[in-house]
Amino acid sequence: MKKPLTQLVQSLIRPEIRALSAYHVAEARGLIKLDAMENPYTWPPEIIDAWLTRLRDVPLNRYPDPAAQSLRDRLKTSMAVPEGYDILLGNGSDELIQMIALALNGPRRALLTPEPGFSMYRMIAVFAALDYVGVPLRSDFGLDRAAMLSAIEQHQPAVVFLAYPNNPTGNLFDDDTVRAVIEAAPGLVVVDEAYHAFANRTWMTQLPRYPNLLVMRTLSKMGLAGLRLGLLVGHPAWLDEFNKIRLPYNINVLTQASAEFALEHADLLEQQAARIRSGREQLMRALQALPGLTVYPSQANFILFRTPHGRATALFEALKGAGILIKNLHGSSSALDDCLRVTVGTEQENTAFLTALRAAL
Ligand SMILES: *Cc1c(COP(=O)(O)O)cnc(C)c1O
Repeated sequence: MKKPLTQLVQSLIRPEIRALSAYHVAEARGLIKLDAMENPYTWPPEIIDAWLTRLRDVPLNRYPDPAAQSLRDRLKTSMAVPEGYDILLGNGSDELIQMIALALNGPRRALLTPEPGFSMYRMIAVFAALDYVGVPLRSDFGLDRAAMLSAIEQHQPAVVFLAYPNNPTGNLFDDDTVRAVIEAAPGLVVVDEAYHAFANRTWMTQLPRYPNLLVMRTLSKMGLAGLRLGLLVGHPAWLDEFNKIRLPYNINVLTQASAEFALEHADLLEQQAARIRSGREQLMRALQALPGLTVYPSQANFILFRTPHGRATALFEALKGAGILIKNLHGSSSALDDCLRVTVGTEQENTAFLTALRAAL
């Protein structure tokens, strides 16, 4: 006699998976979208035409180049990958985090990362059955050196993830503390530079110095979130192992061709990043001028701010009512009580956001 369906699901699906909620993406139809760190700018029409011409010759009937050699060569140059180091591509950097976790898991193997941090680190640790260790940041969201070092000592993590700048807080961690973590870690340290275009600071140049260091980047926040392309930079001895876990053809032909095209127009992406950086500074000053808000420093393309006590959800809803979607972090962890996060948009979008926020405060 077969069990009823719901009982079958309960008995077969691992309890830790049943306890998760799927990654939540807010419905944004009709709203000004300032919730997901996307680049708000599109390409000029003549660039779009040139891109479409390029795509005309892409053979959709053929499997992609599994190694994406031509794209990787271009990325190596444009990302200034050090001599002797290589690139592994993922369907977004999320997939790279998953490959790393799958390669490292096993009994009593931990993934350690500071909190509040990027939510996918914990989710993927759970999928891959790695123990998860979250180490609280200081109240200014800086890395807590003593807490990190003692957690590393205690848990001997197989991998440490450091987002640099950090999401959702926006700050860059102190370099000496990052160095101390890399030196103390018995396993890998992945510095996740998803927001590199807005921070212009990197650990890439330090790869030859540390055998346990990997650097991760993504094209998503630079303006190509729809393509899904992340890259892991490291020594081939590591990448050759992770590459065995990579599913063949994980980077489709349209992504390979489009990313290569985009990198040929790197100046355009850089101009957009520069506009976003200057928009961030304007938005930062405007937010700091509003009464009752605590605005945190940002080297990314978003700004975290704390609202007066108990007001975050009401302000979030008021903004939504005014047609603007940002991210409500209240309730996600006690360190983020009363916190909202806004992505830097176009000048008009930032102004619309500020106008609505002023009206709601
Ligand atoms: C957005 C983000 C990513 C994910 O990027 P994808 O390449 O789009 O999967 C990775 N790390 C951090 C810290 C992020 O904020």
